[in-house]
Amino acid sequence: MNDTTAGVRLLLIGPPGAGKGTQAVRLSAAYGVPAISTGDIFRSNVKGETELGLLAKRYIDAGDNVPDDVTNALIKDRLSEADTDGGFLLDGYPRTAAQVEYLDSVLAEHGNALDAVVELVADPDETVARLRRRAVEQNRTDDTEEVVRHRLDVYAQQTAPLIDLYSSRGDLVKIDGLGEIDEVTERIVAALSERGLVPRTDARA
Ligand code: ADP
Repeated sequence: MNDTTAGVRLLLIGPPGAGKGTQAVRLSAAYGVPAISTGDIFRSNVKGETELGLLAKRYIDAGDNVPDDVTNALIKDRLSEADTDGGFLLDGYPRTAAQVEYLDSVLAEHGNALDAVVELVADPDETVARLRRRAVEQNRTDDTEEVVRHRLDVYAQQTAPLIDLYSSRGDLVKIDGLGEIDEVTERIVAALSERGLVPRTDARA
């Protein structure tokens, strides 16, 4: 179990458009742990035209998952950085069964495990509407109508089954992702507090 000095090891899971990235930033501040978004890491590599970025781009633009071995290696590197010693918040990883297995093994090497998995539940009509707005605001190449539809399929097929897996482990915390951003953060903090995972600072700060 977690003690307050060790920080928390959290995972945010939910369909594209559920608000994971938005909540990740707030939870990272509240719990004093780095937010690690595989999507953000890939996008910054695409922007910087690194080797990894060039490889990842075609998968991202098609709405497909980047191959597990590439993503797993990336996460292993990131979790070996010192800032994750006191905990972390994963956003967008793991999203396949093979990634869960890999993450388990990386954490187990240090005698660690996740403290909780937060599922952000959102109605598909709402998430698609949000992604449509984001397409205009952020100009993401994978937010086009067709690619969004494909990403939702990939999520349903490859990632949604992980929710049952984490639930069977007793790790799952289901949160309604609809409503004001602050309200959703408060719901998450309240549910985690019930499990003894308390924030270091005011989540709304
Ligand atoms: P969303 O959750 O809205 O789909 P992300 O930023 O998490 O957005 O992911 C964007 C894209 O980055 C994905 O469609 C995929 O191509 C790639 N990606 C992100 N995380 C992973 C992962 N864990 N495994 C494989 N591909 C990933």
